[in-house]
Amino acid sequence: MFYDVIIIGGGPAGFSAALYASRAKLKILLIERAFAGGQMATTNEMENYPGFEDPVNGYELALRMENQAKRFGTKIIYEDVIDLTLDQDVKTVRTLQNDYQAKVVILCMGASPKELGLANEKSLRGLGVSYCATCDGAFYQDQDVAVIGGGNTAGEDALFLTRFCNKVYLIHRRDRLKATKVIQEAVLNNKKIVLIWNSVVEEIIADSRVLAIKIKDLITEQLAEIKVNGLFVAIGSVPNTGLVSGKVELDRFGYIITDEKMRTKLPGVFAAGDIRAKELRQVITAASDGAIAAYMAEKYISENDGMW
Ligand SMILES: Cc1cc2nc3c(=O)[nH]c(=O)nc-3n(C[C@H](O)[C@H](O)[C@H](O)COP(=O)(O)OP(=O)(O)OC[C@H]3O[C@@H](n4cnc5c(N)ncnc54)[C@H](O)[C@@H]3O)c2cc1C
Repeated sequence: MFYDVIIIGGGPAGFSAALYASRAKLKILLIERAFAGGQMATTNEMENYPGFEDPVNGYELALRMENQAKRFGTKIIYEDVIDLTLDQDVKTVRTLQNDYQAKVVILCMGASPKELGLANEKSLRGLGVSYCATCDGAFYQDQDVAVIGGGNTAGEDALFLTRFCNKVYLIHRRDRLKATKVIQEAVLNNKKIVLIWNSVVEEIIADSRVLAIKIKDLITEQLAEIKVNGLFVAIGSVPNTGLVSGKVELDRFGYIITDEKMRTKLPGVFAAGDIRAKELRQVITAASDGAIAAYMAEKYISENDGMW
């Protein structure tokens, strides 16, 4: 199965690349391992994507992006990419099911939530520990939960959870939020949110599910136990670059280094979206990267006509 371009990842970067590349009449395959939209699909209300006066649901926008890319001929499959050969003229993409080949690969695998690194955190995932308030919030109707973090995602998560929960503790390691002013104000004015500053989670207390958390005040070093049924972790993300480590250049945080044309150092290999070393990781910048990567892919293919 030989394609002009294989796009790995079906988030906004991948769908935007697919849209632009398929409108250029290239033969496109987009491979996604989970569900359409990536991180965007876990956002309940997006207020900062141009064109939507009212908040737009991330999953709905993802389905629209997917359908739009399909309309212009992109083939979309749901498989997990497990290996890549990128240093040849013909690139090979291996999934659990098949091998696919292409002239160009666009890496759009995005990022995943960062973990706290606590002993039982992994085993309690889905049993009280969550990285997606939009996905899991409704399970905590009339219960008490904690959100960890101080950025936009933590603030948005805390606000979203107040729709269901009795009380939402927002625990942050610093003494002020990093979230934008609009979110900060909404958080500070919400009576269901209890802010706990200068504190970190030391331990998750659980039987088969989360029962409480032990937190440490970083100034007084005092420990306190808070009874919560759910723990929502929103402390940032890590790039999904395990597959390309040692193959393309990464920065010290593991993000792919590209130039402004989304080119990696390997000919015919581009990267777009949150997976890339850059300043602002948002839907709009992911979509922009995807469009540029597709445009440059088209150029690369026409300039190297005859190579394949
Ligand atoms: C909770 C939350 C709220 C947010 N709110 C906003 C907001 O309000 N506004 C805004 O602009 N941005 C928001 N963001 C950020 C925004 O979602 C991201 O910047 C954007 O989704 C990045 O798009 P992407 O396509 O680069 O990567 P991602 O969205 O991370 O998508 C990457 C895709 O690649 C797939 N993938 C990874 N590895 C493989 C593999 N090996 N094989 C196949 N597929 C693979 C993943 O399954 C995923 O679907 C939010 C993020 C989060 C987590």
